Order: sequence, then C-alpha cells, then structure tokens
Amino acid sequence: MILVLKSDITPVEVKRLEEKLAWMGLHAVPSQEEGRYVLTIVHGTDKQVQAEQFIQLPGVDQVLPLTQKYKLTSSEVKKQRTVIQIGNQSIGADHQVMVMAGPCAVESEEQMDITAKHVASAGATVLRGGAFKPRTSPYDFQGLGEIGLRYMQVVAKKYGLLTISEVMSIDQIDVTASHIDILQIGARNMQNFNLLKAMGETQKPILLKRGLSATYHELLLAAEYILSTGNSQVILCERGIRTFEPYTRNTLDIAAVPVLQSLSHLPVVVDPSHGVGIRQFVPALACASVAAGAHGIIVEVHPNPEQALSDGPQSLTLPQFSDMMVSLQAMAGALNKSIAK
Ligand code: PEP
Ligand code: MN
Repeated sequence: MILVLKSDITPVEVKRLEEKLAWMGLHAVPSQEEGRYVLTIVHGTDKQVQAEQFIQLPGVDQVLPLTQKYKLTSSEVKKQRTVIQIGNQSIGADHQVMVMAGPCAVESEEQMDITAKHVASAGATVLRGGAFKPRTSPYDFQGLGEIGLRYMQVVAKKYGLLTISEVMSIDQIDVTASHIDILQIGARNMQNFNLLKAMGETQKPILLKRGLSATYHELLLAAEYILSTGNSQVILCERGIRTFEPYTRNTLDIAAVPVLQSLSHLPVVVDPSHGVGIRQFVPALACASVAAGAHGIIVEVHPNPEQALSDGPQSLTLPQFSDMMVSLQAMAGALNKSIAK
C-alpha cells in the first residue's frame, strides 16, 4: 500500500501519522515524490487493513495499491528515476551514459596506472578493478586485497577517476569503503542476504550484479534488502545469465535493461565483458546496451590481456577500448545522449 499525503501536510503531521501506523502494527517508510510526501507500508501488510481505513487517517490524500513484493525498489512507489551522485559524477539520468573500465583484477600499481591513464583519456570516468576476487577455482589468483585497493585509489586520483571494486564478505566492507567510491556486489553474492543487509548500512553507492540464474524479481528483491536497510543508492547490473548456449560464457540479456527500468526507478548498467566472455564481441554488446537505454557500461580492459591473472579472454586491449568508446559516443549521440565526462 502507498499512502500519498496531502500537499500541505507538515513534517510533524507526517511523523504523527507514522506513529499512528506503527500503533496499528504497520511500518511505513517516508519518501518524497514530486514534492509530495509518500508513505510506503513495508511491514505488516498481512494485517487486513482496508484502503477505506487508510483514507480516513489524518493527512492521507490517496491510497494506491502496491502490487510488487519489492516495494522501495519499485517504480510504483517512485515514478522519477533515481539519480545517484558519486563525487562529481552522477548516474541514472536518462540522457547520460557512465563508462566504468579497468581490469578484472588489480595486479600491480603499474598495471593500474597504465590502464587508468588510457581509459581516462578515452573517456571513462570510473576505474574498475577487483582486489577481492570470487574465483571458481581456489588455486586461481584471489586478488591483492587492501594493497590493491590502495593502488586503485592512488591512480584514480592521479587521472581524475572514480573507483569501483567488489566486496565479497561483510568483513571487507569497511576497508573497501575507505578506499573506493562504489562498492560492487558480485553475481555469486546477489542472494547473500546478510551481506546485502550489511551493505545497506553503508552510505556508499552499490552496484548490484544479477545472479548467474536470477530472475528480474529476484534481483529486485535483492536490491530491496539494501534499500530496506537504509541505502537507496543502488545501481542494478545485468551481466549475463546461464543458458543452454555453451559458445559464449553467458548470455547477455539485453531485455533486462528496459524491463528493469520499467519495474524500478534505480539506474541500470550492463557488463558486456562477463555477459559474453569473448573480447571480440564486447564492443557490439556495449553498443547494444547503450541502444537499449543503459545508464552505464562496466567493461574489462587490460594493458596485456594475454598475461592477465583473471578474465584475460574477455578483456579489451587498450586500443580496442578506445575504438569502442568512439562507437559508444556515436550510439549515444544518435539517441540524443552523451557519454558522461
Ligand atoms: C567481476 O566483475 O570481475 C566479476 C567477478 O563479476 P561477476 O560477479 O558478474 O561474475
Ligand atoms: Mn572479471
């Protein structure tokens, strides 16, 4: 249930109404929609309170049904798109595309410096790099840990970039948040509910990747865990799903972009690198993602993919990244959008 409050209601009256609802066994989360106060009832909806009872409460103007289980994440509750401010950049506005680029894993300061310099000059605004790596095999490179985060922070500052890096467990949140601008939850952790709740308590933007075989509703409910714990700065990420097709690493689900944007007000980005797993096909899918309306692209780039310690086959070379940026700019331009600078 969504309660749209009267336009002249005061904050004190809103508080009183929340208390009244709590007394009725209902927990409501306040927000503002086009200048109007809105209360979204998130707990206690099993109580059989009828719409007529709500409309009689002081200050309530309209009562709207909430049909989805994901409530705070839903476009039913918030019609305007969420635009997340990250340093001097923002993501979520329909006319802009944010490009995040860098290696799968941070390997050395030199590797990060070369990559950051190149992607910044080609037009990316966010440097990606994993310091805690979720590898399929325990014998594969597991990441440099905190020293890797420090390398990212140093080179990102040097070239004026923001940073994004994955957090795999609750104990990695604080250290990652102290060096990095955007925290990533990987596909394998999309339904690690304790991690989601703990991430909800940070005040950093979070990029939440779709699980390997998660439905849209499962992804949105995972986002709901973060929003319901107090952090509404969530970016949804389509990164390919498991299908019967073995040729590519995953199957990139382009439909996820417009569908998630219609179901939710949160920004949607696409990771074509994990989506296809083969570098040759990454630029075409990045362009398709922009064409479908993605608010951003996160892509793997390595100065020497043949020597990469993780995901070399899907990492673009530096010149390939530059070429892809030219195509993305043209695609964005054709849609009256621009690549965020
Ligand atoms: C990554 O971004 O390097 C990564 C491990 O992604 P995903 O969680 O989508 O597999
Ligand atoms: Mn990777």
